[in-house]
Amino acid sequence: MIPLKEPWELTVMRTAGRKLASVVAQVREHVAVDITTRDIDRLTEEAILAAGARPAFKGYKVGRAVFPATICISINEQVVHGIPGKRRVANGDVLSLDFGLVYGGYYADSAFTVVVGEGAEEDHALVTATRDALELGIEKARVGGRVGDIGHAIEGHVRPRGFGVVTQMVGHGIGRKLHEPPSVPNYGKRGTGDLLKVGMVLAIEPMITRGGDDTKILGDQWTVVTSDNSRSAHFEHTVAITPTGPEILTQLD
Ligand code: MG
Ligand code: MG
Repeated sequence: MIPLKEPWELTVMRTAGRKLASVVAQVREHVAVDITTRDIDRLTEEAILAAGARPAFKGYKVGRAVFPATICISINEQVVHGIPGKRRVANGDVLSLDFGLVYGGYYADSAFTVVVGEGAEEDHALVTATRDALELGIEKARVGGRVGDIGHAIEGHVRPRGFGVVTQMVGHGIGRKLHEPPSVPNYGKRGTGDLLKVGMVLAIEPMITRGGDDTKILGDQWTVVTSDNSRSAHFEHTVAITPTGPEILTQLD
């Protein structure tokens, strides 16, 4: 069953989303060559706590694996769920930052990717295509549509540009839990999948590669990398389906 949010729940989720957007904006300012991913993690945690919220990912469990940090930082061939540490951000890195918090019992989830420093033209193209694909996917989050419309829009934008679509990881519903039904794949057929209804809140999150679709998980049990070592990008927003269209909760006015 897909949980539909009541108006009062959406009010709380709107606040949670704005708080996360503010955290993202603050942390973004500090991204630069030579900063360690551990320092980005510390800044993120401080910002989330200062906002009166708490980190969503720290202590998150999948089986026996416990995520040890506040933010997921995934560099280059790492797609998602990278663990912050002593690595320093280098010129030309494709840096994906995935943020999550919980406020008032409700989750917000958002990610962006940036090419640090000058970077390669192909990496900029990847990042731009992934960001645009998210926008096109969000546009399909409308009453009467279907989950497959979202994936179809995302896939239809990036494949013709020569990029791969990660299929082993997908977007998701979000609310009182970080991951709720439905699954929101970044591929699909128009007019297929769950019907979209008012009160659904979805984390839409294209994960796009410069190579193939296949991924694997590293020995740390978390870091997802492309199987062909190609670079990848990830953008995500938490989006509510309202009677008048999609409302992005994780963005500032
Ligand atoms: Mg996320
Ligand atoms: Mg997510």
